[in-house]
Amino acid sequence: MKKRMFKAAIFSMLLMFGYLSQSVAQTTNTEQKIDEIIAQLTLEEKVAMCHAQSKFTSAGVPRLGIPEIWMSDGPHGVRAEINWDNWGYAGWTNDSITAFPALTCLAATFNEGLSKEYGVAVGEEARYRKKDILLGPGVNIYRTPLNGRNFEYMGEDPYLASQMVVPYIHGVQSNGVAACVKHFVANNQEKWRGHINVELSDRALHEIYLPAFKSAVDGGVWSMMSAYNQIRGQYCSHNEYLVNDILKGDWGFDGVYLTDWGAAHNTKQSALYGLDIEMGTGTNGLTYSEKNHYENYYLAGPFKEILNSGEVSEDVLDDKVRRILRLMYRTNMAENKPLGSINTTAHHDVARRVAQEGIVLLQNDDDFFPISDKKMKIAVIGENATRMMTIGGGSSELKVEYEVSPLQGIKERFKNAEIVYTMGYASGPSQYGQVIPSTLDADSLKNEAIKAVKGADVVLFFGGLNKSHHQDCEDGDRLTYDLPFGQPELIETLAATNPNIGVVLIGGNAVATPWSDKVKTVMQGWYLGTETGHAMADVISGDVTPSGKLPFTFPKKLEDNAAHHYGEMSYPGDNVNEEYKEGILVGYRWHDTKKITPAYAFGHGLSYTKFKLENIASDKKSYDINDTIEVTCSLDNIGDVEGAEVVQVYVGKHKSAVERATKELKAYQKVTLKASSSEKLNLSIPISSLKYYNENKSDWELEEGEYYIYVGNASDNISKKIKVSITSRVN
Ligand code: BGC
Repeated sequence: MKKRMFKAAIFSMLLMFGYLSQSVAQTTNTEQKIDEIIAQLTLEEKVAMCHAQSKFTSAGVPRLGIPEIWMSDGPHGVRAEINWDNWGYAGWTNDSITAFPALTCLAATFNEGLSKEYGVAVGEEARYRKKDILLGPGVNIYRTPLNGRNFEYMGEDPYLASQMVVPYIHGVQSNGVAACVKHFVANNQEKWRGHINVELSDRALHEIYLPAFKSAVDGGVWSMMSAYNQIRGQYCSHNEYLVNDILKGDWGFDGVYLTDWGAAHNTKQSALYGLDIEMGTGTNGLTYSEKNHYENYYLAGPFKEILNSGEVSEDVLDDKVRRILRLMYRTNMAENKPLGSINTTAHHDVARRVAQEGIVLLQNDDDFFPISDKKMKIAVIGENATRMMTIGGGSSELKVEYEVSPLQGIKERFKNAEIVYTMGYASGPSQYGQVIPSTLDADSLKNEAIKAVKGADVVLFFGGLNKSHHQDCEDGDRLTYDLPFGQPELIETLAATNPNIGVVLIGGNAVATPWSDKVKTVMQGWYLGTETGHAMADVISGDVTPSGKLPFTFPKKLEDNAAHHYGEMSYPGDNVNEEYKEGILVGYRWHDTKKITPAYAFGHGLSYTKFKLENIASDKKSYDINDTIEVTCSLDNIGDVEGAEVVQVYVGKHKSAVERATKELKAYQKVTLKASSSEKLNLSIPISSLKYYNENKSDWELEEGEYYIYVGNASDNISKKIKVSITSRVN
């Protein structure tokens, strides 16, 4: 106690003499208050703060007015209220919200400003709904197109995900709501997610799977959620290497590390390897159940026992409580926190703009899109033209105030056209963990569709995946790379009947597109949330020129994907272990390096206007290891309409001593240009970002020598390749 008073006196003196800046003073002040609170808490009270007391809350200290922490899924909107003790919805009538586009779509915008707006808007909704932690965003790397949860993440490239995740976090946290980056780490498939042990190289871990999490930590994220799986034989929720050494050690994370629901497996490891809050799934807090009662959580009763016996020191507990209280001072105990808001026009507007900018035009023969509104017949086919996609998918499911379907959007926008609609195929209702096939007759649906497209001027097919089990949904992976529910055959039949057909793919994953040469257009339409139909009609009509770029590769066939190339041990594993045999060669890194042409490449996305990328140059030919490469170029919109282009800069090491990808994304810039206008761009690449992870030294290392800089508008459309060298002896 005396020591603390002495510290406080010194602190006030420093403040008086102006030696401490205000924010440092505030932090020190908060840390001091936290110490004062901890000194007043009993061991029981402290332990109670370290585990769930209901499905989505952890306990406060009622005696001292310290609030509970309320959490909610994420990441595309604030989930409806769940019952205190079971997974049923609570049936509130004031919890309908705005659904924002899925994070794959956000990544496809390549627009960090929009990511910030997204974060602010969803954070305002979370604040209004009195949530202290929003369980998102997710930044697990897209490794296989079969992963049921890719739609909740930001694609296959660590640099893109690292750039896009930080503004989202800042936006959310500006509302006094903690973002919770998930799932740390290598939860890259849903199959066997609860136990599979992932073996991967240090290089893959550091160069591919960790960077987006590191970026979130450097960006100041206040909480992080563990992955369900194990890495190198230890569960991620209490993994000494991942949490103690890397997250809280090397990266200096000062926030709260919490489990995914039910992802803890061991008390002593939870205590010692960095777990702060254990959340759970098989709980029943009303009646005592031997197995699942909160008191039996690893970080509850059993934790108390090892504390009381002295096996684990109380300092370990205090560190957890200090982090939890720090999060509270940033959220529910923050002074002057905003009030939040919900379902505002501004939120709907953000949702619509993210959707507009994220839609990717993959193919557009004969300028099929845009379609102008005139007297004609449009046949809209496909279940996904009317299916609600905020329902299903698992924990990211949302209860929306409204969701405009693609069909509704088309009908509202094309007032002069006659629009006919028929389902074409049916998938059945969405049920978590279960496939319920449709009872509708597939042949009759198909025949109706053939009838509808005959004589139509334009055919729009809305297909793809959905949010059901074994589609884009938690706790299960897709079973096949092909489009489901008979769509490939249906598309071919419809195209043979009426070749003036465009396909809109709804989903969060790549799919096989062997039918693409039979159709004019293929558009990647993601899951777009509340404003789905409006945003789609905006792009289809040409009110908005598409500018989205793929955040992941569409391989031609599944075996072309690196994880699948190496067979079962590489994906999905043998139910015990899984080996990431492709190492660092994930996504386009694999396709480029192994020269496997994809159906649609990472970074690809067409526009209704035409851009010319010229005068591409680097500022120097030789760089010092501490330099920054400045790439300049001019971008001209030589088409007839306004549009946005994403200029992408990749770098590859020429003749490396270690295995390298041919090229890796190191900078990008999205620019909107009016027709016939141009802009000069400058993209910076710090030489330090070209380091690789040296496994022998367990550290990053820069290789001197020759590098290639590739500048283009897609990973497979490079306008210029520039050779430069890096040496420590320049000038
Ligand atoms: C998911 C998490 C989610 C949690 C709470 C888990 O099954 O993996 O992403 O936040 O449930 O709903």
